[in-house]
Amino acid sequence: MFADIPVDVGVVYEGERIRKPSMHVELGGPKVKLKFELMRVKPSEEVEDGKVTVIGPEVQDLREGSSIPFGMYFEASGKELEEEMEGVMERRIHDFCNYIEGFMHLNQRYDIWLRLDKKSVKKGLTFELIGKVIQRLYKSEMPIIEKIQTTFITDPAEVEKMHREAIKIYEARDARTRGMKNSDVDVFYGCTLCQSFAPSHVCVITPERYANCGAISWFDGRAAAKVDPKGPIFEIKKGKCLDEFKGEYEGANEVVKEKSLGDVTRVQLFTTFDYPHTSCGCFEATTFYVPEVDGMGIVHRDFKGSTPAGLTFGAIADSTAGGRQVDGFHGLSFEYMRNPSFLRVDGGWNRIIWLPTELKEQMKDYIPKELWDKIPTENDVRNINELKSFLESHDHPIVERIKAVEAAAPALAPEAAPTVAAPTLAPTEGAVPAVGGLSIIFKDAKIYAKKVIVRRLSSKEREKK
Ligand code: SF4
Repeated sequence: MFADIPVDVGVVYEGERIRKPSMHVELGGPKVKLKFELMRVKPSEEVEDGKVTVIGPEVQDLREGSSIPFGMYFEASGKELEEEMEGVMERRIHDFCNYIEGFMHLNQRYDIWLRLDKKSVKKGLTFELIGKVIQRLYKSEMPIIEKIQTTFITDPAEVEKMHREAIKIYEARDARTRGMKNSDVDVFYGCTLCQSFAPSHVCVITPERYANCGAISWFDGRAAAKVDPKGPIFEIKKGKCLDEFKGEYEGANEVVKEKSLGDVTRVQLFTTFDYPHTSCGCFEATTFYVPEVDGMGIVHRDFKGSTPAGLTFGAIADSTAGGRQVDGFHGLSFEYMRNPSFLRVDGGWNRIIWLPTELKEQMKDYIPKELWDKIPTENDVRNINELKSFLESHDHPIVERIKAVEAAAPALAPEAAPTVAAPTLAPTEGAVPAVGGLSIIFKDAKIYAKKVIVRRLSSKEREKK
């Protein structure tokens, strides 16, 4: 695509994964505490168009196989650029990095995870050239950017200094929608940027529900839609309010249905059940439903351990992501957790039964005071039995629900329960391949199972069939 760049650049490289054995270096990521990416709008005289600065070692001087603290800082100017657009412009860093062959970018803001592969580095790819590519892509896709300069930071002390600044800027951006209500506005905003890996996902961004990635607020959506109304971030007319408490709007349903090609027909913004907001894959945290206590835990991306359900963030995220609506498993942003409407249909914070220590601390000002000691962390419980005992001994509000679940249990015992015919799957028309995968899609189905066993039949068993 660019004659002076030693690697290819194009949408075709989006989704390219760089595995550890082929990686030259990892920038940020789960092993590194300090990392960030930031876009700022500046006056024209403060921006030297095309300038790329590297503070710290260049790509070739980084130790092969290492993971390092890392920062990326873009400054842009243009007559029509406004500070309000920073969040949306910043979110495009993800796409533009991923267009570069041998360069992988995941997540956003203070949570970025990038990898450069050995082959591209051998061909001569450097931060200097990456900066040039990203600047060109910005200018071609967002012509209102007149000048842009870039700084890559690999010096740990400099990353730390700038990271502190970046956190303050993110916080100031997030605070703008606090106190606003959905009823204060006539339009919401939608985003389909994540459809490249979650085809049926549409973010519905409202004053009371920040985007899943935590990078786009209602104000950011407004700025993006103004600049590029036909772009991936667009206006959604609210239309008739179908249920204010649940957060269901005719206009949002229509847009989600259209943009998901009919896969998702209804969205209720403030619940994890029935018609929850879809979950892409770059959510900051996700809920996980624990049937034994009829409550939800929440685990965030940086949590390395195992939840009391015995699953890691990665395993839970796999059950949540992909643009699906999965009861109880719900991708969300930290800012949405700070909103008073957070999961209000399900009971809000009263329904949250577990949090990692780090996330709990982060939410300290937003968790109701009377609940603080009642929500356990990884330091209090390690499995479901311990979780249940903790909730009971600390008189968590969920205890009432646990009692209700237990009271209902005898009625569900096999001898007492009404006989429900097991659903039968009609044979597929045409041949089902004897070898290979079989995809089963349940639509509008709710399935409760204590255990599911999937095993390969022995050759004898197959003969009998
Ligand atoms: S999480 Fe939502 S708002 Fe954020 S980039 Fe993806 S689709 Fe857009």
